[in-house]
Parts: sequence; structure tokens; C-alpha cells
Amino acid sequence: MKPYDYLIVGAGLFGAVFAHEARSKGKRCLVIDRRDHIAGNVYTQQVEGINVHRYGAHIFHTNSKEVWNYVGRFAEFNRYTNSPVANYHGQIYNLPFNMNTFNKMWGVVTPAEAKAEIQRQRDAAGITQPKNLEEQAISLVGTDIYEKLIKGYTAKQWGRPCDQLPAFIIRRLPVRFTYDDNYFNALYQGIPNGGYTAMVERMLEGVEVRLGVDYLQEKAQLDALADRVIYTGAIDAYFGYQLGALEYRSVRFETEVLDTDNYQGNAVVNYTDAETPYTRIIEHKHFEFGTQPKTVISREYSAEWKVGDEPYYPVNDDKNSALYARYQALAGEEKKVRFGGRLGEYRYYDMDKVIESALAAAREELA
Ligand code: UDP
Repeated sequence: MKPYDYLIVGAGLFGAVFAHEARSKGKRCLVIDRRDHIAGNVYTQQVEGINVHRYGAHIFHTNSKEVWNYVGRFAEFNRYTNSPVANYHGQIYNLPFNMNTFNKMWGVVTPAEAKAEIQRQRDAAGITQPKNLEEQAISLVGTDIYEKLIKGYTAKQWGRPCDQLPAFIIRRLPVRFTYDDNYFNALYQGIPNGGYTAMVERMLEGVEVRLGVDYLQEKAQLDALADRVIYTGAIDAYFGYQLGALEYRSVRFETEVLDTDNYQGNAVVNYTDAETPYTRIIEHKHFEFGTQPKTVISREYSAEWKVGDEPYYPVNDDKNSALYARYQALAGEEKKVRFGGRLGEYRYYDMDKVIESALAAAREELA
């Protein structure tokens, strides 16, 4: 008999939720992670009493009451509502695109005036069926907003011009004809008090975790420990990139402690021009209404991923989707292994969707 029922590769949200569910059904689980900490990319670390989102800002939001109740078992969530502001050459605009944005951009006051202006700009651009992100953006909010708030930011974030990106990326953002600055349409939203690491720690309570263990380096020995493997690393890495590497965007953070209590007055400020080299500045304390005497900020630089870097965003364009489908076919042959999570499924997942998918995987596995 093997010592574990499940070897879970990756201590991020997918792995932690799966492990929690499996353990609660009496399964023997071993969670391993290459990094020296749990929580994957939602990892938070205390600096000057502030929970710093080490791998980029994570704002929990969901429409699923099931997922909201689920995370509520592991953390208490505060009332944080994401309302980023865009800084375009020193002019400030509210996000997501809403009446405050339209008023600042054009001086329009009513929803009817805003809709008419967008319609005028869409007609002038001659777009009927949007085929890419650029056309989708112009069709949703017009040319001015596209030029000032979308074009530069998106090109920096993805390292590709907007006419070479899939339209769905921009449809993540709401366009609202109300004066509502809430970035998400989700019914439930907040930041876990005490940080995400503490939340994931609670999920993993009673589960054996080994850190600094690189699965792909010692695959054969580790596989021998368990009946089943839940793999949440990159699917192409699992197969030694034998069909070629999937593309990811990576992110580099320059984090600084500043001797001021309030640097930018908001958790998230996006720099939407093409010239500023970073995409946004996160001021971490504002996620938790922090009153510490100092502050911690992270400038976020987007970069093309290469083997050895941390992968962040899958690039779900046609080419990569086709390659992923071929890897998925290989994955289907690995009878002992289930692939899950953002890297295992090569999907631009939000946290709630990862949790939903881990719960579904657990239901299937543990049925
Ligand atoms: N976006 C933009 N301007 C902004 C913010 C977002 O053009 O100021 C676009 C950009 O294309 C980006 C997409 O909206 O890739 C999704 O943004 P989101 O904030 O959802 O990205 P994430 O927070 O996942 O990095």
C-alpha cells in the first residue's frame, strides 16, 4: 500500500482546496510545492505590518454563493471594493468604464448622452462585428477611451498590439452607464482579513505539506508515494515542452517601503499610457484600510515569459489554444494524474473559478 492516496503538486488555491476536501473525506494527502511558501500566487507576506500581495494584487470576487460561503469558512472578508483609477499622463479617470469616466472624458452627464457619444465613435470607426480586442474595445466604449485607457495599457500588459489579442480579454471589464466605480459585477467581494496566506494555511490544516520540493525533478520517486496525482503546475512543463512551450505573460514587481502613510490614495493605480514602463502601482495597505505609519508599493512590469520565469497569465489566443488542446490530449493518457488550476488547465482563471473547479474535481475524485 502506498503511503498517500493523493500527491498534490502545488500549494496554491486549487491544490489547497482539493487537499482540504480530500482530507475531510479521510484521504491521506501530501501537498508539495517548489516554492518555500504555500498559497501559490495568492501568497501574501507581512512587511511593516502590511499584507503585501507578493505575486500581484488579488481581489476576491464571485457571483457564487457556494464559493463565497466556502471561503468564509477559512477567513473573514473585509468590505474592500476594487475601484482602480487610471492615470493617463497625469489625468485621472475612474475605472471600470462608467459614467464618472464618460463625464471626465467628454463632459457628458446622462447615460443617454454617453451612449450617443460611444455610438458616434463606433460608427466613425466603422466596426460592426469586432474581431479582436481593439475592435471590441472601440465598439464597447469608443475611440477616445480606447486610445487613452486601453491601448497603451493592454499593449504593455500583453506585449502585443490590441489588434492581435482576443476580444474576450476586454470583456472581463464591465462597461456601466451608472456612476458605479466597482470594478467587478460580482455579488460578493472582499479581501481576507490577515491575508491570503493565513486563509490557505487554514485550508491546509491537518494536511502534510513539503516545501521546496520540485515535482518534475524527482517525479518517479514522488509518483511512487501516492495512488493519484493532482498536478497544478504548467501542463507544458509536465510534458517537458515536447510539443513546444505554451506562451505566458510574466510579471516582475519592484516593491518598495516608503516613509509616508499614504502614497497614492488608492490600492490600484493603472498607468494607461504607452510610455510609463510599468502597468500599475499597487499600494497594498489600502486593501485592508491600513493605518500603518509607512506604506509598501509595488510597481508592476509585464514581460514575455521564458522557460525558468514564473508564468502568470496564459495567452489564450488561437495558436496557444490549439497547442494546449494537443497537450490536453496527452494529459488524457496520464491515467493516474489530474491536471487542474490556472497553469494545469492553461486558463485565465479568477480565484473563485479556480475554487469552483477544485471543488468539482474533488467531487468527481471522491465520489
Ligand atoms: N484593461 C485596460 N486598461 C485598464 C485596465 C484593464 O485596457 O486600465 C484591459 C487590459 O486589456 C487587460 C484587461 O482589461 O488585459 C483585463 O484587465 P484585468 O484588470 O481584469 O486584468 P488582471 O487584473 O487580471 O491583471
